[in-house]
Amino acid sequence: MYLKLSVFTFFALLLSPILFAQDLLLTGVHVVSVETGQLLENRTIHVSNGKIKAIITAGDLPQGSQNITQIDGNGGFVFPGLAEFHAHLPVSTDGSTQLQEESMWLYLANGVVRIRSMLGHSSHLELRERINSGKLIGPRIVISGPSFSATTVTDPQQAAERVREQKQAGYDHLKIHPGLTLEEMKAIAQTAKQEQIPFGGHVPLEVGIRNALQSGFKSVEHIDGYMEGLLPASLTIDPTTSGPFNLNLASQVDWSKLPELIQLTLTQGSYLAPTLTLFDRYFGYIPADTFRVAPEMKYLPGPLIQQWVNTKKQLERAGMLDKEKVAPYLAFRRKLFMELHRAGIPMLMASDSPQVFNVPGFSIHHEIALMSEAGMSNLEILKTGSIVPAQYMGTGSSWGQVKEGFDADFVLVENNPLLDLKTLQKPLGVVIRGQWVERKELQIQLDRIEKNHLRN
Ligand SMILES: [Zn+2]
Repeated sequence: MYLKLSVFTFFALLLSPILFAQDLLLTGVHVVSVETGQLLENRTIHVSNGKIKAIITAGDLPQGSQNITQIDGNGGFVFPGLAEFHAHLPVSTDGSTQLQEESMWLYLANGVVRIRSMLGHSSHLELRERINSGKLIGPRIVISGPSFSATTVTDPQQAAERVREQKQAGYDHLKIHPGLTLEEMKAIAQTAKQEQIPFGGHVPLEVGIRNALQSGFKSVEHIDGYMEGLLPASLTIDPTTSGPFNLNLASQVDWSKLPELIQLTLTQGSYLAPTLTLFDRYFGYIPADTFRVAPEMKYLPGPLIQQWVNTKKQLERAGMLDKEKVAPYLAFRRKLFMELHRAGIPMLMASDSPQVFNVPGFSIHHEIALMSEAGMSNLEILKTGSIVPAQYMGTGSSWGQVKEGFDADFVLVENNPLLDLKTLQKPLGVVIRGQWVERKELQIQLDRIEKNHLRN
């Protein structure tokens, strides 16, 4: 047993410089508790073997501290970093992993230390492996498998088989898309429970929000299905006129149905990933031409931005995004989001990046701004990106807080984020798996990515 461990450790040391990074002392920081909203002032964080070993009162450094790398936190504020729980990792089909690696830096540079990838591909498993083994630096990744949709599912048996295959392949999560029948959804849900793999996504129209929740949807993406669930039973939805996400029907919502939906969501323990910024940018009335010139677009390939412009302009030309149509829908979504939040339904920080004008990492700050505008408190917003996703994954006692014994993933910012959310946009440094990455390095990586995508 001892010998086995030694051999393992020996190889691990050779292969994993990050996993076995040296001890680190981050001195002179204020630690934000996202659990209580309190501040531990003037502390030193001792990081060892990728974990937070101790949080020490200033001046109380551990023995031998002169031999440990010390970073001066300079009175900055430390919080657990952000989780982007609706991300889409780039797919590598030709062996090039450039875009995948670039998005790792886009996330870190924005203080995102965890992502849940919501549309899987086998190349993502390789990416996760490279990160977990310390060959590549990046946020920690939870990976959904390839989508379950009208095009990939043929019948309940095949759907169940696909669940087992994805679990076997090493995916952490299943992604549900529109077009499934109720029988197919039941088969997926039942097998997912047997295989102990969480599932979530869109709510197929035939399934409906009530069946989706009852089947055990762990997360409902985009708060999908709730509006349809609030429409009068007598109304038939005509997809040719109802607009994207049926946004033209918002005015017909019957709010008196909401308490029952809230109760069902709470009873089933489902989480919501609101992706407010997706609706603001993709289906909002602010024109494509405004977003196309936003500064962060320079970090993505020109053809992708052009594709986004084309997609949105098509909706604009069809008159689907006229302000008088869209503004009431966006207002409805905000109200729904806040009603569900106030009722105690857990919300996951999620921006759907990269999806129409939502650039990985940067888009999380738009989501934060929109949650704040809708009325969520700063502390609750920070929780959606830390404690809540940790609980979602069933790992609430190992990450999501800056606490002794927790994973050493956290972010240093200039101001107290409980008072100033904008400070989150410019991390002074990021600790990921116990490794310190300073602002200078983050900026170097951003500059490098920008150069890779210079437009002629
Ligand atoms: Zn998505």
